[in-house]
This record gives sequence, structure tokens and C-alpha cells, in this order.
Amino acid sequence: MITGKTKIIGLFGNPVGHSLSPAMHNAAFNYEKMDYVYVPFNVKPEYLKEATQGAFALNIRGYNVTIPHKTRIIDYLPEVDPTAALIGAVNTVKIQDGVSKGYNTDGIGAIKAIEEITPISNKKVIILGAGGASRAVSFQLLSSYEVELLILNRTPEKAFELKSDLESNLKTTLSAGGFELLVKEIESADILINTTPRGMHPHEDDEPFLKARDIPSHVVVNDLVYNPLETGLIKEASKAGATTISGLKMLLYQGVEAFKIWTGQEPPVDIMEKALYDFL
Ligand code: NAP
Repeated sequence: MITGKTKIIGLFGNPVGHSLSPAMHNAAFNYEKMDYVYVPFNVKPEYLKEATQGAFALNIRGYNVTIPHKTRIIDYLPEVDPTAALIGAVNTVKIQDGVSKGYNTDGIGAIKAIEEITPISNKKVIILGAGGASRAVSFQLLSSYEVELLILNRTPEKAFELKSDLESNLKTTLSAGGFELLVKEIESADILINTTPRGMHPHEDDEPFLKARDIPSHVVVNDLVYNPLETGLIKEASKAGATTISGLKMLLYQGVEAFKIWTGQEPPVDIMEKALYDFL
């Protein structure tokens, strides 16, 4: 039951109608009998500043931030965690002791999903895409592990931009290029992560990046798209006998990390995962 003592966690996005996060977090709060509620707020871009001030004024304890606000919200936060600052995007805010602090749990979420399946250290990783999700995953990956990283993008210039940003900020080296390199490079890769929306609903029939015949069975294939759960790329990887990771796992673990930031407690991961599957 919601009372005057209930702690409110929000979600700022536009749109928010299809978000799976309310189902996932409210299931966890209910299961743990925690006096919290997770509420989505549709925040128009022109009201983002007012929304951050409003959350503070209303004693909201924290919130998630999603499209289209993840980058701009940094301008309105007095404190930003160093990794989120490097990524240049915030997806989780905690309000405590009169301060709103921003974090980014997207990259950690993606990495936890992969760690669950395979060790990452010293592996060759190919990331497809050079947008916001690619930035979060590649910054977190290179901050956490020694890896050989190759970023491929439809617009190669953007992959090169991200490469130089990563190299200058993290004092590391990596490679970048266009998708034409993929079939050759996948032969020696260990992990493939698709961070582009190719194959995402309503474009399920998009040509997958690779056919089964081109996917070595030793490669772990992670598609960040979770709608549909089985993308064309995941289907081809399964046909090839490769291990696959659904995008739902990244969604789950970014939520797990956000839950820990807001509450200081370990969440019931199985309950959160079941809520996601039930919702879909
Ligand atoms: P974004 O910033 O707009 O970047 C999109 C990237 O994908 C760009 O590199 C773009 O290439 C490329 N791209 C777009 N359409 C493409 C296509 N049809 N074929 C090949 N490449 C294409 O988007 P984002 O925020 O990074 O999100 C990307 C995807 O990640 C979305 O599908 C989103 O649902 C998913 N995602 C999942 C989670 C999760 O929890 N599982 C979290 C975040 C994001 P150009 O540079 O050439 O335009």
C-alpha cells in the first residue's frame, strides 16, 4: 500500500509507455516488502530541467533516465559519477543528502550479462554500432578489462570518432572500421556485441549482420535488442551452434545495479528477470 512513508523512484523518458522498468522494479520492491514504488514520468525535452528540480522538491529518492534525456541531463546534475561522465550519459540518478548524483549502469549491465556466460579478460571483442549504447558498453569494457576491441559501424567515421575518444580518455588502443570487415574479423573474435537497432521491432526482417555459415561456434553473440527476444542475429548464431545472450539480460543487470544504487540493498534478481519475461 502506498502511504506518506513510501519512497518514490521515478523514470524520466519520452515516451515511457512501453518501458519494462516499472514491472521489473515494482516486482522487486513487492517481493522484498520494501516501501518503495517505481513510477514512470513522461518528461518532454523542454521540461527536463524542471523535472530534475521537481524530483528534488518532491523528495523523490531517485530515478532512471531514458531516451531522449540521457545526455542532456548531465547539465542539470550537480554530481556525476566519473564513469558516467566519461560515457557522457546518465541513466540512473540518486537523490541523497540534498544532492542529485548521476550514474550510468548501462555499460555495467551489458558486462554483467556477458560475464555470466564467459570470461572477458584478454578476449577479442567486436562491437557493432557507435551510438549511445556502444559508447556505454565500450567505455565500461575498456575501464574494466584488458581486451582487444574492434568497433564497426555503418558510418565508419563515427566508429573512428568513438575510437579516438576512448583512446584519449582511457590511454588505450583499439581498432575501428566499417561493417565490411566483419566476416573476416569474426573468425578470430571471441565475443560479438550488437549495439545497433537492426532487427528490432518492427524491423524483425532486417538482414542479420551475419549468416550462420559465417559465425564460428566459439563466438559468444550478444544482441542488445530484446524486442523480439530472438533477433535475426541471435537465430543465426544459434543455428551456428554459438552461445547467445539476449538483450534482456543487459536490461536486467542495468536495473539490478540501479536498484543497488537507490536502496543500498541486493535485489532479487530472479524475481526481476521473471517480471521482464512475464511483461514481454
Ligand atoms: P543510437 O545512439 O541512435 O545509435 C545507433 C547506432 O546503430 C549507430 O551506430 C547507427 O549507425 C547504428 N544503426 C542504426 N540503424 C542501423 C541499421 N539498420 N543497421 C546498422 N546499423 C544501424 O542508439 P543507441 O541508444 O545506441 O541504441 C541502439 C540499440 O541498443 C537500440 O536497439 C536499443 O534498443 C538498444 N539498447 C538496449 C539496451 C538494453 O538494455 N538491452 C540498452 C540500451 C540500448 P550510424 O552511425 O551509421 O547512424
